[in-house]
Amino acid sequence: MYNPSPTKLNKRTLSHPPSSFGLRRTEGGEGRIVKQQKPPSPFGRRCQSIAQADEGWRLFLFTAFWILSLSACSFADELKLLRIEASRSLGNDYLDIYTTGLVETRGLLLEKELQIDFPGVLLDKNVEITAVKSKRVAKISAIQADPQTVRVIIALKKAIDYNIAHIFGRDKTVVEIGDRRDFTAELMAAWEKKALAEKGDPIKAFEFAPAGGVNLSLQGKTVILDPGHGGNDSGAIAPCGLPEKNLTLLTARKTAELLSAAGAKVYLTRNVDRKNNLKDIVDYVNRTKADIFISLHYNFCGKSDIGGTETYYYNANSRPLALNLHRSLLYGLKRKDRGLRKQIFYTVHHSQIPAALLEPLFLSNQEEEKLAFTPDFQALVAQSIFTGVKNYFRSN
Ligand SMILES: [Zn+2]
Repeated sequence: MYNPSPTKLNKRTLSHPPSSFGLRRTEGGEGRIVKQQKPPSPFGRRCQSIAQADEGWRLFLFTAFWILSLSACSFADELKLLRIEASRSLGNDYLDIYTTGLVETRGLLLEKELQIDFPGVLLDKNVEITAVKSKRVAKISAIQADPQTVRVIIALKKAIDYNIAHIFGRDKTVVEIGDRRDFTAELMAAWEKKALAEKGDPIKAFEFAPAGGVNLSLQGKTVILDPGHGGNDSGAIAPCGLPEKNLTLLTARKTAELLSAAGAKVYLTRNVDRKNNLKDIVDYVNRTKADIFISLHYNFCGKSDIGGTETYYYNANSRPLALNLHRSLLYGLKRKDRGLRKQIFYTVHHSQIPAALLEPLFLSNQEEEKLAFTPDFQALVAQSIFTGVKNYFRSN
């Protein structure tokens, strides 16, 4: 889920005081425990220990009071979603979603709809939804997706970008919907055309053997990971000068370690800096008895302010895998949601097994470039892919 900074929101949302964005604001000094210096007791040690016992009681009562009030709140004030008001302003669509308390929402952009989940919330039986005429939004609905979650579903007429802001103090979530600024699919298609025409080295797959043991979550599963680019095809070059081909290999190795430790057999289409032709990769995938195929890339585009996570698939049998990976990357990396997208990219199109192509971050975005080359963040990307794979196998 994406928490936009106030500066990224336009004038309309900024008409709210900027400090109301984000989560809880701490007022200066409030809630701070200041330990006061006590004067030494004139009555010696005994009195001091009585004073300490007294302080202990006070601390106990204070803690008990808070535990009781918090549990009373959680029983008495079940959060409800009351109202959704659509509007249009400055060329964007807005949804003001009113709840009875502050909720941290989760957005998920799919091919033809945007879902906003409200965890820990009940749908009010008299929920009001008001719509306006829009070139982007076809229909707005709200359902109780499970006993704890309300899902607002925004059916879309065209590709969009969105932001979510939580208005603290007003118990309101604002969804801002604008036209999608898309420069990535075209760039990818152009690269594929060129890459297909060039000869690659013969595929030398590298195997990460599965860990031994019993009751491992991925025992018996085989995963093929494809670190995008290699050899004289460096992929995108980050502004710092480092090529995408290095990063995809790092991510693939880290992911392979996690998958094989959980019992999966993992093949990397390359484990060194070499160039594979896309057709050879697909031939290899289709003749290897694997369960899933994941191609790893990092995104790039001409607009440095564009960032976020995109996940691609093409065949219908690949959608559950791609959806699990996209959701897991969004929740794990917490970058902007650029959507789960069906696109005719070569490897995902021609793979017979479920296949997804991942673009976790944009190397052309300054903040994400920095993150991409940070070991902790690389570990987070690998962990998110691993979680997505586990979730996929658990539910399919
Ligand atoms: Zn790439």
